[in-house]
Amino acid sequence: MLGRSRLRRTGRRLFVRLAPRLIGLTPSNLFERDCGEVALNLPVLAPAEGRIRVAKYDVAIIGSGPGGYVAAIRAGELGLKTVVVEKDPFLGGTCLHVGCIPTKVLLHHAEVYDQFKNGAELGFEVSGLKINWANVLARKDKIVKKHSKGIEFLFKKNKVEWVQGWGKYEGPGRVSVEKDGKKTAIEASNILVVSGSEAKSLPGIEPDHKTILTNRSILELPEIPKTLIIVGAGAVGVEFASIYNSFGAQVTILEMLPRVVPVEDEEVSAELDKTFRKKNIQIYTSSAVESVRKDAKGVAVSFKDKDGKTQTLQAEKLLLAVGRKPMTENCGLEKSKAKLERGFVHVGDYMETAEKGLYAIGDIVAGLPQLAHAAMMEGIVAVTHIAGKPAHQIVKTRIPNATYCEPQIGSIGLTEKQARDAGYSVKTGKFPFVGNSKATILGNHGGFIKVVSEEMYGEVLGIHIIGPLATEILAEAAAVLNLEGTIDDMMNMIHAHPTVWEGMGDAFASVRGLQINV
Ligand SMILES: Cc1cc2nc3c(=O)[nH]c(=O)nc-3n(C[C@H](O)[C@H](O)[C@H](O)COP(=O)(O)OP(=O)(O)OC[C@H]3O[C@@H](n4cnc5c(N)ncnc54)[C@H](O)[C@@H]3O)c2cc1C
Repeated sequence: MLGRSRLRRTGRRLFVRLAPRLIGLTPSNLFERDCGEVALNLPVLAPAEGRIRVAKYDVAIIGSGPGGYVAAIRAGELGLKTVVVEKDPFLGGTCLHVGCIPTKVLLHHAEVYDQFKNGAELGFEVSGLKINWANVLARKDKIVKKHSKGIEFLFKKNKVEWVQGWGKYEGPGRVSVEKDGKKTAIEASNILVVSGSEAKSLPGIEPDHKTILTNRSILELPEIPKTLIIVGAGAVGVEFASIYNSFGAQVTILEMLPRVVPVEDEEVSAELDKTFRKKNIQIYTSSAVESVRKDAKGVAVSFKDKDGKTQTLQAEKLLLAVGRKPMTENCGLEKSKAKLERGFVHVGDYMETAEKGLYAIGDIVAGLPQLAHAAMMEGIVAVTHIAGKPAHQIVKTRIPNATYCEPQIGSIGLTEKQARDAGYSVKTGKFPFVGNSKATILGNHGGFIKVVSEEMYGEVLGIHIIGPLATEILAEAAAVLNLEGTIDDMMNMIHAHPTVWEGMGDAFASVRGLQINV
């Protein structure tokens, strides 16, 4: 298997390097390389121009989150006449308004605050340090607004139109848009549904957005709560745990599964668990919430702990972070041949559903992770395919995961267990950041980089990072997996010194027992 994949890779590299020279092209007029194919980057898209236009638009996109807006911009770049339908009066979706961006603003502020708190160790005398929460929230809102306007600008630049209203698939080539009781129609040869997701709640527990919160309402709290219970230790749960722990709240996490960040490698979960407990975050795993009762002090949460005993905890606020459900209701998909399962839409290789010309992208897609960057690439794949250009297929194990709690987590590919369960003969290596000088300079040298590889040829199967800048140095891990690199390829790569990133070099070498810094 590996032999074939290496051969394919080498063939592809050679073809991409030599083909342009043979036919007299320079890299700047190459459009894209994919599995040995090279296409011309024509300024105007041939298929869209050549075909007789029967509909007003080539592409109509329902939803302007990262899946929708990126698809729209790329469609515009490819010369496809594109319209986006968005129910909200602004562009950007969950990610920009109540997800990735606002949470990362708060995480950044929490990190800066931690640095000040730790000032003495850095040689600074810091006194009178106070959080002006209103100003923190105002900066978050300013950043969100700036980037939402940025999408509007990019739409204009790429001649993408957008219209506000509820978009609904009305059959092949037709979308209706409803706003203030009025319905209008759009005709488009291809339709992308990118309607996103919303927070799930637990049976019998309804968020009131004052005491029982979701990822939306927790961003609007007028004050930092003194105590906070978070139900769910996935990415959203642990990020908010980090934020509010840094800002001084007593945080407790309740997780039904046996470990925190359950999709990560088991050693990463154990490391996060250990570090969070050191920061005085209480964690109850294998613990199922039974009831939530509001009272004068906030909420009382009863749960069955891992020994089967019922315990009750009290807190000012409760955050539900128990996953996200797809928003496919009332989008008209039931009128199509698209196959739905618990609201998620099944798609083929190029994100097309079972109904020709109808595509599904992002958080509503069955079997792919609910991540902004996954949604973005899915949108690109769909419109590239629509434009008649060579498009990649999404490979689930090549999608990076980034969790921005402190310590950060970055991972891609198979965990050690997944690799063993898949039948690989596995060899792992691990480099602790304690041996990395830049991590020490940053005062943040907990955690490690773990490499999961295939024993015989050294193919890299997965990389799991917990520690400083994990979400940034993940870039190299993503490149290795996408280029099907081996341990030996990576051991020959020179990493700049001193960087946190050079830990990757030690981690690859540790698979062969040849690490330097530990
Ligand atoms: C707290 C939190 C933090 C997160 N952090 C990260 C992160 O750091 N990195 C990451 O990769 N992912 C993160 N995510 C996940 C990320 O936000 C989603 O994966 C991403 O937003 C999905 O993009 P999407 O385009 O599919 O949908 P969305 O972003 O949900 O956008 C869907 C859009 O469609 C609109 N819409 C829905 N139905 C209709 C309709 N019928 N008509 C018109 N418009 C409609 C909605 O108003 C919305 O604007 C986070 C999520 C949360 C909740």
